Amino acid sequence: MKLFDTHAHLDNPRYDDDRDALMQRSRDAGVVCTLAMGTTAASSRKCIEIADRYPDVYAAVGIQPTYVGKPDAGDWDEIVELAKHPRVKAIGETGLDCYWDDNAPLPLQQTLFQQHIELSRQTGLPFIVHMRNSEAEVLQVLQDAGKQGPVNGIMHSFTGDWELAQKCLDLGMDISFAGMVTFKKSQDLREVAAKIPADRILIETDSPYLTPHPFRSKRPNEPWYVQHTAECLAEARGVSVQQFADQTTQNACRRFAIALDA
Ligand SMILES: [Zn+2]
Repeated sequence: MKLFDTHAHLDNPRYDDDRDALMQRSRDAGVVCTLAMGTTAASSRKCIEIADRYPDVYAAVGIQPTYVGKPDAGDWDEIVELAKHPRVKAIGETGLDCYWDDNAPLPLQQTLFQQHIELSRQTGLPFIVHMRNSEAEVLQVLQDAGKQGPVNGIMHSFTGDWELAQKCLDLGMDISFAGMVTFKKSQDLREVAAKIPADRILIETDSPYLTPHPFRSKRPNEPWYVQHTAECLAEARGVSVQQFADQTTQNACRRFAIALDA
């Protein structure tokens, strides 16, 4: 079984003492590749360092929407520079978050979101979208981007309804699901996930956040937990977990232009 965790905050300091062991646990569970997700310029730099160190990790560089107003977000120019690194396979995470907007004014988030999309267009690297309490606002930006052609993006940790999923798929985006889809109360979300075309669905952990059922609140999330999301969604879609794992890994490799060793 080959699993691909398309969204993990591997640079998180709580992994600093344990990262080698964590990577080994991932490999033992069948995780063949993990995309380490930047949240600030410094975090993006650290994600590249991690990707340089582990052959099964690649990096995404960007400024996460809840950080845009903070002094430690770092310079956008640095993100543009970092995006040239050969281990960088995506731009992000970006998007809009209206839950924490006390710290991050929406107009500033929107400007940064557009800059990430522009950088994605210039580099050919797909961008990763974070959406929280901001469906209409995110859709507006994506549909504007769609006027210039297919949108090379991924909806990360998707929690929207089928209508929104369809709109994103129509724009050319892929839809990624995290551990939240395994929660008991997430039946609606599982039904949405079951309808995504097989070649357009991805899985992720959003480690160290969103630990899947049944490990919730026991320990921080890690990339190998992606197998529980895979098991849950394979069941919802009526396919074997093996088949679903291989399919989602293939999808991720195609979207991020990553060639895995056989
Ligand atoms: Zn994230």
